[in-house]
Amino acid sequence: MLVNTEAKILPIAQQGEAVLAQVAQLVIDPLHPSIQTLIQDMHATMLAANGVGIAAPQVFQSLRIIMVASRPNPRYPDAPPMEPIAMMNPEINWYSDEMCLGEEGCLSVANTRASVARAERLKVTYINQQGETVESEYSGFVARIIQHEVDHLNGVLFVDRLDPDLM
Ligand code: ZN
Repeated sequence: MLVNTEAKILPIAQQGEAVLAQVAQLVIDPLHPSIQTLIQDMHATMLAANGVGIAAPQVFQSLRIIMVASRPNPRYPDAPPMEPIAMMNPEINWYSDEMCLGEEGCLSVANTRASVARAERLKVTYINQQGETVESEYSGFVARIIQHEVDHLNGVLFVDRLDPDLM
């Protein structure tokens, strides 16, 4: 991931903000400087908040961009390390039948942790920061982050998943 030392830490939308309930727009021009800058700023904001992922609506941009960046930190001491990945227009095209329960929190939902059922494995297609279309398979905690962040693009928070009607 390209890192720009001028990246800004952005305000994070909190539960109840309208932007978190909207369906985010597709990114039309992944290489546009404003999109690249937004990705840098999302990364800096996520790091500053000890997140392992972030979605553009969380920084008040209703666009289909997520950052996936599992690593051990004070909020998730057991998270596996990985190179941070920016995914534009991510589409989960396959979920395993196998589900798993795991504890989640959210930078947009203060002081709340809960166990959420997610698919153990998935395949996702996305546009990377270089504008290339990529398909990858993920499992475990990283697959959980992807499902959590893609939910943000569809106006869904993890606390909405606690409703049995959505499980
Ligand atoms: Zn979240």
